[in-house]
Amino acid sequence: MQEGAKMEPASDSNLSSPLRGTEKASQLVLFPISVEQRKVEEIKEVRPPLWKEVLEREWNDWRWQLRHRITSLEQMKEIIELTPEETEGIKHSKGRLALAVTPYFASLMDPINPNCPIRRQAIPRIEEIHLSKNEMVDPLGEDKHSPVPGLVHRYPDRVLLLVTDQCAVYCRYCTRRRLVGSHERSITQGNFEEVLKYLKSHRKVRDVLLSGGDPLLLENERLEEILGRLRAIPHIELLRIGTRVPVTLPQRITGGLVRMLKKYHPLMISIHFTHPKEITETVRRACNELADGGIPLGSQTVLLKGINDKPYIMKKLVQELLKIRVRPYYIYQCDLAMGTEHFRTSVATGIQIIEKLRGHTTGYAVPTYVVDAPGGGGKIPLQPDYLVTRGKGKIVLRNYEGKVFEYPEPNIIEFKKARPIGEEKVVPKKVMA
Ligand code: SF4
Repeated sequence: MQEGAKMEPASDSNLSSPLRGTEKASQLVLFPISVEQRKVEEIKEVRPPLWKEVLEREWNDWRWQLRHRITSLEQMKEIIELTPEETEGIKHSKGRLALAVTPYFASLMDPINPNCPIRRQAIPRIEEIHLSKNEMVDPLGEDKHSPVPGLVHRYPDRVLLLVTDQCAVYCRYCTRRRLVGSHERSITQGNFEEVLKYLKSHRKVRDVLLSGGDPLLLENERLEEILGRLRAIPHIELLRIGTRVPVTLPQRITGGLVRMLKKYHPLMISIHFTHPKEITETVRRACNELADGGIPLGSQTVLLKGINDKPYIMKKLVQELLKIRVRPYYIYQCDLAMGTEHFRTSVATGIQIIEKLRGHTTGYAVPTYVVDAPGGGGKIPLQPDYLVTRGKGKIVLRNYEGKVFEYPEPNIIEFKKARPIGEEKVVPKKVMA
């Protein structure tokens, strides 16, 4: 239906069973609708005293940021008042998932409040050593779908290419924690040649997603070589990059990088955003630069307990994303990665968030909520149930306000064997739904 078109709520008499005479419109909403009053305050970069003397030129240099990442308990203590849970978490993070935080991302953290969403994503807590029986080393079954090291071929027409194991900041809920951060190396030339050989011989592959680790941590020349050689394979139509760098190291988005990326269109970028507080002036500039390069931008967000699992936070996030020309694309249910149970919410929480978005804000702002099936079944979309019942020749639906509407199914019109123009004979056939 067109936006703005009107339908009357179905009357009691024309509702199909089991609704007739029993249901009230308002009862059809799975979760109560309430006006979201709470606000997410905007955040500003506040340079901790440790970096007060750093020159602007250095601070805005992505290589400086990368070289000066915080990787130890001692450094972290200099900028944050760590809780005992965080101190223990950092001590136990060695050999599990590396600790690394760019000075820029650290400057967004609240040094006092341990519940700061930026801080919770990047600083390990002792809960990480708790392993649940449901967790897996490789929750998405990527390794068993890997014909060549670094390449995951799970869907027929697209592949995932892991070009580096390095990230600017290591997210404590990372699905690929078995791989990232251990060596901070990019794909070797020999390995890449094997990947190319595989792709050339698999003509059904039309889409390559570069991921890792973070592909935007490669130097322009190396990234260009990878993109250029993939683009030269005739059956590869689309190149995509999955990255968190515009959020954790936005200084990396330079004019030079965008000019290089532009040469490889169609190229799309999915950016991993988690919380509206991540959208600072620097991030706005980075995303605008990418969008000005003609690169379609989408967001991917992991649903995280105590960080973004409230509808008003997600609403703020998706609305802010549209303002910087990033189309909200996916909300992921948190995967079953080792030591991440404390981040997981119920699936009902994710459905409730969609319930509070769909119809309540611009359609472009509503992402698809998915569970990536454990073991490698792919993404399964979930949403509130808007189909109330399917009746004889009609269906009954509810809208975002819980009001009920009927939609008549069409009579199917069958065309007999094609005849020369002017002689078509339409044979209507009554079909029961
Ligand atoms: S940026 Fe992505 S790959 Fe890197 S740690 Fe975060 S979730 Fe994992």
